[in-house]
Order: sequence, then structure tokens, then C-alpha cells
Amino acid sequence: MRIETLAVHAGHAPDPATGAVTPPINLSTTFARDADGSLPHGFIYARSDNPTRRELERALAALEGGDTALAFASGMAATAAVFQSMLPGEHVVAPQDAYYGTARLLREVMAGWGLASTLVDMTDLHAVAAAITPRTRLVWIETPSNPSLAVTDIARVVAIAHAAGARCVCDNTWATPLLQRPLALGCDLVMHSTTKYLGGHSDLTGGALVSPGDDAWAARLRTLQALGGAVPSAFDCWLLMRGIRSLSWRMRGHCENAAAVAAFLAGHDRVETVHYPGLASDPGHAVAAGQMTAFGGMVSAQVRGGAEAALDVVRRVRLFTRATSLGGTESLIEHRASVEGPESRTPPGLLRLAVGLEHADDLVEDLDQALRGAATPR
Ligand SMILES: *Cc1c(COP(=O)(O)O)cnc(C)c1O
Repeated sequence: MRIETLAVHAGHAPDPATGAVTPPINLSTTFARDADGSLPHGFIYARSDNPTRRELERALAALEGGDTALAFASGMAATAAVFQSMLPGEHVVAPQDAYYGTARLLREVMAGWGLASTLVDMTDLHAVAAAITPRTRLVWIETPSNPSLAVTDIARVVAIAHAAGARCVCDNTWATPLLQRPLALGCDLVMHSTTKYLGGHSDLTGGALVSPGDDAWAARLRTLQALGGAVPSAFDCWLLMRGIRSLSWRMRGHCENAAAVAAFLAGHDRVETVHYPGLASDPGHAVAAGQMTAFGGMVSAQVRGGAEAALDVVRRVRLFTRATSLGGTESLIEHRASVEGPESRTPPGLLRLAVGLEHADDLVEDLDQALRGAATPR
């Protein structure tokens, strides 16, 4: 079955008890045993497994073309489980522009438990190979990256990781399984912040891991899910399944609008650089075209005049909402350097746009008036 069809149907069918077409939300925390102590439906207690989460996990596994999916209470909870599955003394290679929380987790939490890490420019395959040590057991990919939209060649990095005896994980949040299938490119695990496009409506927090097999590592991650306890509520699982049903059409809209916004910005005299892998001039375009079916809904642009001019644009937008995050129906804009603080490596003039599902012309007109009105660079 094709992924658009899976998105609509995977994980559920009309409820056998009632015929309800929309799946019920199963809120029970505990499940009845038979007189002999057996569990007729296989559920014991909601933290370890429950019917609504199981439906979601089936849908997530199907979408990524995996075997086993594990749902978490947030993307960071899923990421933390991956790092916790490693041992003190082991080493992780991750991108220097990894999601801010991923890099902080490695630095501020995992380093203290003995998990070492090296952050590299993942678009530079020599740098990836050079960062591998005899203790490297994991290479973490995130592509396209945040906020610079850098594109990592997944299959090539997988080859480097596997040659060194390390596993390769891909944070597939920005691309979604609709645009990019890391397991088919050789990755050993996919991570998602389902808070973003999979949820799709800015109303739930969630994370997921999808593994190609039900092997010992998947079992270890399942143990960390159940014992760590950072699991999503049944209601959030249900909301996420509702979001997934429209994923394929929402992604078409995000990609189409982002392409229009990127093309507009690339031709604007107040804009220095546009980062969008869909632009033929983008340094990541060729690799992205080879491993993605479309280029996603995120665009970033460097405004002429640095931080002052960029912040002025952010103050002037009317339709874009000034907020962090992405993946909802509404367009968001953010000056990343001020959000990330003094240690940020993000260029001061960079604006990150999460392009939503409004009409592309309204988005372009809003950006145009904001850019025209903004302080003239000195
Ligand atoms: C948001 C995000 C995360 C973290 O997910 P949460 O659900 O906020 O915990 C990780 N990676 C990427 C690429 C993200 O955008």
C-alpha cells in the first residue's frame, strides 16, 4: 500500500465493538485478568502498553516502513531513550547543527553519565569519518537541519557508521516519512518529534522511535520506554492518529507553500541568502533531490542588515505568528539567534519560517510588506 493510503488507514479499522469509524480513546490504566491470571487481550497496565498507544505505534511503524514503533511523551523523551540505551564509555557523533535540545542533552546530561560526543558538520563526510573513534557506537543524523536546512547524505553517513561498527539514527522530524524514508537508506532507527508535522495542529507533544526489526536494541528501547515512563497519554495518542490521517495532504500544502515563499525570498533585494533545499541553487539540493520526494515546509533566510533588520521584519509581520516550533497549520516566524541565546552559532540576520497552510500569496504579501517596512541596512 502507498504511504498516503497507510496514513489514512494504518493502525485502526472500524471498532469491532460498535462500528465506530473513528477509533475510540481507551483511557483505562489497568486491564482485567481471567480467573487463571492470564491477560486475554495482552494488556496489563497503561504505562507498559495500552490499546490506543498500540494503534498509534502500528501506524507509525507502517509509515516509516519499520517493524516496531515506540511512542514517547515528547521528541526529547525519545532521544533520551536512545542515548540511555548506550553505555558509559561509548561515543556518539552528532551534527553540529543538531536540534538545540539534542546537543544540550548530550552536553549537559549524557556527558555526566560517561557518554562522550563529538559534534561535526555532517555535510562534510571527511569530518564525519574523522570524528569516529574506536568507542563510537552511534551516529546521529538530522536532515534537513535546524535552522540552516543543511542536508546530510543519509546513505553515505550510514556507510561510514556501519564500517565503524556503529548504529545510525536519523531524526526525521522535519522531513516526515512522507518525504524521506531513512530506514530504506540503511538507518537502524528513526526518531520523530511527533509534536511537529505528524501531530500537525500545534496541540500535542509527542515523540517516536521506529526500528526496522524487533531485535535486542528495540527490546532495550521498549524497556526504557516502559521503565523511564515518559509515555504519551491515550488522548495524545488519539490526537496524533487524527493528525496522521491528513499528513500526506498537509505535507503537499506545506511543501508547495514553502517553495513559493523560498522563491519569493530568493528574489527579494532585502534578503541576502535563502536556505531551502528545494532551490536549485541550494548547496543541499542535489543530495536532497536524491533522498527526499519533496523539500519540506521549513525555510530560513538571512536578511540584509543583520540582527537589527531581521528583528524589525519579525516585529512587522501580521500573518506569521512570532513563535517557536513548526508543523502546525499556521505559519510561524522566529529570529533563531535571540531564541538560542549568547552561545548560538546561528547567523544574526537569520529568520526561520515554518510555512503553514494559508494561501501562499497571503504569506508572500505579508513577508513583502514586512521586508519593505524594515529598517534600511546601513
Ligand atoms: C522539536 C524537535 C525535537 C524535540 O522534540 P520535542 O517534541 O519538542 O521534545 C527534536 N528534533 C527536531 C528536529 C525538532 O524539530
